[in-house]
Amino acid sequence: MQGFRALPSVDQLLQSEIGQALTQAHGRAQVTAAARERLDAARQAIRDGADGGTEAARLPHLLAADLAAAARSNLRPMLNLTGTVLHTNLGRAILADEAIAAASAAMAAPLALEFNLETGGRGQRDDHLGRLLCELTGAEDATFVNNNAAAVLIALNTLGQGREAIVSRGELIEIGGAFRMPDIMARAGVNLVEVGTTNRTHPRDYQGAITPQTGLILKVHTSNYRIEGFTAEVAAPDLARLAADAGVPLLNDLGAGSLVDLSRWGLRREPTVAEAVAEGADLITFSGDKLLGGPQAGFVVGRRDLIAAINKNPLKRAVRLDKIRIAALEATLRLYRDPDRLAERLPVLRMLSRPQAEIAAQAARLASQVASLLPDYNVAPCDCASQIGSGALPVDTIPSAGLRITGQGGDAPDRLAAYLRGLSTPIVGHIHDGALILDLRCLGDDRALLDALAG
Ligand SMILES: *Cc1c(COP(=O)(O)O)cnc(C)c1O
Repeated sequence: MQGFRALPSVDQLLQSEIGQALTQAHGRAQVTAAARERLDAARQAIRDGADGGTEAARLPHLLAADLAAAARSNLRPMLNLTGTVLHTNLGRAILADEAIAAASAAMAAPLALEFNLETGGRGQRDDHLGRLLCELTGAEDATFVNNNAAAVLIALNTLGQGREAIVSRGELIEIGGAFRMPDIMARAGVNLVEVGTTNRTHPRDYQGAITPQTGLILKVHTSNYRIEGFTAEVAAPDLARLAADAGVPLLNDLGAGSLVDLSRWGLRREPTVAEAVAEGADLITFSGDKLLGGPQAGFVVGRRDLIAAINKNPLKRAVRLDKIRIAALEATLRLYRDPDRLAERLPVLRMLSRPQAEIAAQAARLASQVASLLPDYNVAPCDCASQIGSGALPVDTIPSAGLRITGQGGDAPDRLAAYLRGLSTPIVGHIHDGALILDLRCLGDDRALLDALAG
């Protein structure tokens, strides 16, 4: 039985062969701090009756493990096999190669962000995207902010500060992560005037609420829920006419806002931004990283005078986009100029439009290989249902396929899920009916899964 004397000093530990290798990898400051912690823990263990020699022998290995764990980022790439394609907690859209290249270039070198290359004078940061988005949506003008929450906030504040905004009670939504329409209105300085009922709102409800205090009428895409049964809402074109007659602007918050008709790829039709523009809303807001498939961003498109007013709002500077995202967005929007090749090049659309048969073939191909990498579990191909996510088409699922993994004991799915999350390339699926399901819709390449499991 050995005591404290068996333990090296911090200095001895750093000078040892493994200590020097760790210092090379992690830096002296990190290794010193980690060594102190480990030595403290070893002394405590010896005080509690452990053998000093055993503790000393364990030290280098534990120190290396501590440092490796501390060096590993939780933001490392992972595999989203949840079946939710646009998973907000996993960062939503995966960008197109073109967008990634543009963002990398923008990070590495100066670029003419607010500089006019023709005249040598000052340029506008939003011009790079503005022309492109107007071309794709038919809108008069456009402006760009940090995310759609910011787009709604600045549009509300610009149109309605100190005045009233009329909204249907059926559209006072909460989006995950504390975005609640009444709270955003309060912060925008707008007084909320609720009209209609949860399930039915009529034109006369809006008309009856219009006063000299009205700043705007707001229409909100209910995104993440749907009311069915005895319902009525005022369609956007009718609401636009009603607003125009009353001389107040209509703001339509689309949320996901697709630039293309998704039914072309077998998905349910969602109103496109171009359609919303044609329906006559004065301003339309939508997200960059939902169906559009770009980086996080918020767009406001619509009437030129109102966009100009938003750009003059001091809040604009606080919620503006950085050069990296502007570059990525420009490259993403350019892909929409060629809709025929969009599903090939835009990962979100590629994943959403993958045929079930192709995913099922992938599951059949992978089942036995995955089983050999998870010897304690049973792995079988299965049918499952994917979701778009991020509040787009909330009730719809897309037929998909994946792997159904079961094991001994009631906690087997949770145990496996925890193991997969701890891999150097973490894998997340979802637990359903006593099994862990890995939906393969978002798995581009078989190797990615096999390498992650082997790693
Ligand atoms: C998602 C969503 C928002 C918020 O957009 P973010 O991009 O998450 O900021 C606002 N309104 C609606 C209707 C939405 O669906």
